[in-house]
Amino acid sequence: MPRMRQTGLAILLLLGVSAGQTARYDLLLKHARVVDGTGGPWFRADVAITGGTIAAIAPAIDAPAARVIDVHEYVVAPGFIDIHTHARRGIDQTPTAANYVRQGVTTVMEGPDGSSPVPLAPFLAHLETLKMSLDIGAFVGQGSVRNAVIGDVDRKATPDEIETMKGIVEQAMKDGAFGLSTGLFYVPGTFTPTAEVVELAKVAARYGGIHESHQRTEAAGVLDSVRETIAIGERGGLPTQISHAKVIGTANFGKSADMLALVDAARARGVDVSLDQYPYTASSTSIQAALMPAWLLEGGRQATLARLKDSASREKAKGQIAVIIRDERGGGDLKNVQFASCGFDPSLAGKTLYDLTVQRKLAPTIRNAAEVVMWIVEQGGCSGIFHAMSERDLVRILKHPATMIASDGEIPVFGRANPHPRSYGTFARVLGVYVREKKALALEEAIRKMSAYPAARLGLSDRGILRPGLEADIAVFDPATVRDMATYTNPHQYAEGFSHVIVNGQVVFENGAMTEARPGKVLYGPGKPRN
Ligand SMILES: [Zn+2]
Repeated sequence: MPRMRQTGLAILLLLGVSAGQTARYDLLLKHARVVDGTGGPWFRADVAITGGTIAAIAPAIDAPAARVIDVHEYVVAPGFIDIHTHARRGIDQTPTAANYVRQGVTTVMEGPDGSSPVPLAPFLAHLETLKMSLDIGAFVGQGSVRNAVIGDVDRKATPDEIETMKGIVEQAMKDGAFGLSTGLFYVPGTFTPTAEVVELAKVAARYGGIHESHQRTEAAGVLDSVRETIAIGERGGLPTQISHAKVIGTANFGKSADMLALVDAARARGVDVSLDQYPYTASSTSIQAALMPAWLLEGGRQATLARLKDSASREKAKGQIAVIIRDERGGGDLKNVQFASCGFDPSLAGKTLYDLTVQRKLAPTIRNAAEVVMWIVEQGGCSGIFHAMSERDLVRILKHPATMIASDGEIPVFGRANPHPRSYGTFARVLGVYVREKKALALEEAIRKMSAYPAARLGLSDRGILRPGLEADIAVFDPATVRDMATYTNPHQYAEGFSHVIVNGQVVFENGAMTEARPGKVLYGPGKPRN
């Protein structure tokens, strides 16, 4: 009990340990409904913590503790592990990551979608200097590695370049990456042949890493993309994960059934393929990545602007953007594209492509909107929110046993711009909407998808389940009131229903506020030598 030694007798008396007694535990949670992360039924118990570790779980623990919290029948669950975040967008400004902690998240993973700092080691060293409320680890991103070696151009890599890329991935794994992420939808990932990805995946596999993919397309070609994600795992010899599994575009609604059939068939033949998902029918990324064809973006911003000045390529782009608005991310309606943040005009945040087309004195047709999209990129670009998924696909994917919950979010500056509500609400929304209201999942299964399953996926055997000897990362919430508050038009609202969040044995959130504790640690993957 290292923290106890520094604590005077007066404090002990205040906290409920009488004179003459020695506190056996640092923290005791009384009267809990324990949902332990395994998926098994909840049970009534007390949970005792010593240092950063769970010390005991039993029906009635009466040994003295430095601090006792009566949780009054609230659910006590393992802290949630978000395997897919963009937390480096904001962790410096807000190292508490309050938007995550306040919905029960105690561990986040960075470097998704093929995008990470390269090399990775300086980024991890930087994280070590931050006083964070939660734990953080990282993947190495294939797109960033390719960009560092050959730029964002559409060509095959030479054998020498592939060797260089493999070396960068190997170093990242030795530095503590949890695996290789790909973003084959994005430039330059989209220029990468599958075989090249497999070569890098084999390196991650050698160090015990996994592969996770923002797939090449999530619209018309989504099933081919699922086959590719499975192939990378199968040929690369490592677990493989479909990031933020979804089906985009009205014409493709329903394809989740075929997607999951491919997953089931692969798993049946021994491929360890899994999925993660956020519980929203809108996605979020940059306007240019979402609505522009890759050839227009090749070679960087200046090359894009030059193509937009050429009338023939501008006309060609306009036609293709119109199709993407109609059939893919645009959701077939200009009101389905919403601006999250526009550096060149912050007042656009929250408005839609419909609003801006009218504001620019154009009739709100899809072709005119394509013109406005090109204008936006010429001004410097925006990030957007794209309403182009179906609730039926969402629920079908959510219910699959190989699907875990992940936000794909970031750490917003509170009150700034109009980010996707997933950053504030993902985990609370699953518990409030999909467990309590829609009854799509049992509570225990939802918690498993947030804790034990992502922990196992990452090889984090020290967390994700409530069990003596494991990390004391804990979320306490009222299952009757837990809910997400963030909306598409009013996103800066914290989730509600959580009473306490504990990270590494320290209470980081209680009484509706973040505490002063900053127990967050940097996590290192299986390839980093332990001393
Ligand atoms: Zn993504």
